[in-house]
Amino acid sequence: MIDLKQLEVWFITGSQHLYGEETLKKVAEHSQAIAKSLNDEKEISVSVIFKPIVTTPEEILSVCKEVNASENCIGVITWMHTFSPAKMWINGLKILQKPLLHLHTQFNRDIPWNDIDMDFMNLNQSAHGDREFGFMVSRLRMNRKVVVGYWKEESTILQIDVWARAAAAWHDWQGAKFVRFGDNMRYVAVTDGDKVEAEYKFGFSVNTHGIGDLVKVINDISDADVDTLIEEYENAYTLSASLQKKGKQHQSLKDAARIELGLKIFLEDGNYKGFTDTFEDLHGMMQLPGIAAQRMMQAGYGFAGEGDWKTVALVRAMKVMGSGLQGGNSFMEDYTYHFEPNNEMVLGAHMLEICSSIADGKPSCEIHPLGIGGKADPVRLVFNVAEGEAINASVIDMGNRFRLLVNEVHAIKPKHELPKLPVARVLWKPMPDMKTGCAAWIYAGGAHHTCFSQNLTAEHLEDFASMANIEFVLINEHTNLHQLKNELRWNEVYYRV
Ligand code: MN
Repeated sequence: MIDLKQLEVWFITGSQHLYGEETLKKVAEHSQAIAKSLNDEKEISVSVIFKPIVTTPEEILSVCKEVNASENCIGVITWMHTFSPAKMWINGLKILQKPLLHLHTQFNRDIPWNDIDMDFMNLNQSAHGDREFGFMVSRLRMNRKVVVGYWKEESTILQIDVWARAAAAWHDWQGAKFVRFGDNMRYVAVTDGDKVEAEYKFGFSVNTHGIGDLVKVINDISDADVDTLIEEYENAYTLSASLQKKGKQHQSLKDAARIELGLKIFLEDGNYKGFTDTFEDLHGMMQLPGIAAQRMMQAGYGFAGEGDWKTVALVRAMKVMGSGLQGGNSFMEDYTYHFEPNNEMVLGAHMLEICSSIADGKPSCEIHPLGIGGKADPVRLVFNVAEGEAINASVIDMGNRFRLLVNEVHAIKPKHELPKLPVARVLWKPMPDMKTGCAAWIYAGGAHHTCFSQNLTAEHLEDFASMANIEFVLINEHTNLHQLKNELRWNEVYYRV
């Protein structure tokens, strides 16, 4: 549902008229070649579009206006092949409303030792041309990403793609709509926050519908549509005996399928990109959406439990960022700890709603009592998650600002069957170690709800936070609590200036 190739990043090269027409022709040729090569790279998920080189303040202002107005343009890559006096950029940069990547590269990889002359030097001067441009962006206090390296080098290309994916998610948030069925879980703090400030800062809106509005759509779903979806469940999952056609609880599977179909229609009709519900508000619902929430997430929707709209939006953003990459992104909760010395780890899960995009192998489809909410037993997908590097991310509202936290973790292959645990789960070891990682998370006020990602890195989220212009706190192998506490204290000052 998320096709990143439809989105465009515009490649803009700055120069000036000092060097004569011949040089400018070369600059245009070279910058066209770079843009084309980036566009053709299969590692780059978006389209890279060459724009005519800019050499005057008027041209720069005009292309920046075009960037702002373009529906499909999600960001700009700038490069100064030659020198482009940066006062020319002030008025353009001042109005630029989309993410900026400054590519500090050079058309020639190597210095042509035997042939180098002043013509070569005049053409290939990004080493200082880009510094002049960089000064202006810093002088204007603008957030941007600086990528340094030869344009054909894989690490350069991958870094551009990280930024492009973050820009795609940022673009996706602008004007996005998320729906809450019911309010925030009673008395819970971290899942709540300022929705007005969020809409101003992030561009998405969050509005509420009574659960009855959804129940009405669910009740209108036809039996034939339910049967078709049940067939899909039968093919995709291992159904427990009681849920199968002749099983005692087959009706519950039908109820679950009906909920999924109703949700899908509700979200499509309302043009929503994600939703949250709460077990405290299920009037008229037969069961808390389990498999429905899991499958809607797999389809690309944002989701979080208990009214947690910030995590809904984050899950959606991370799904956009990870689109097309191996591995998945899911709503997650730190649930229970294993404190065995030298083998400490976290068991992550939720009551039901872990996205099947992170499943290792074929999920089993099961039904068990929930214990809270007072509704019928909900159907859910149960699975383990493969070993590997991952991250947990959380957005919190600090009152005067939003903070995005990321903890790098290592997911662990489960050694035990957990036969009595009726939910999807992940085991991980937080970086740099359990004690430091968990303490750092708690000092930073990170939520118990997160988005767990197998295919994104902290760099994606750092770029994203920079585009949103919010605080970013990273907990990784280098984290030291003394420094982290100072960082948090210093950030308090920064965000009050
Ligand atoms: Mn929860």
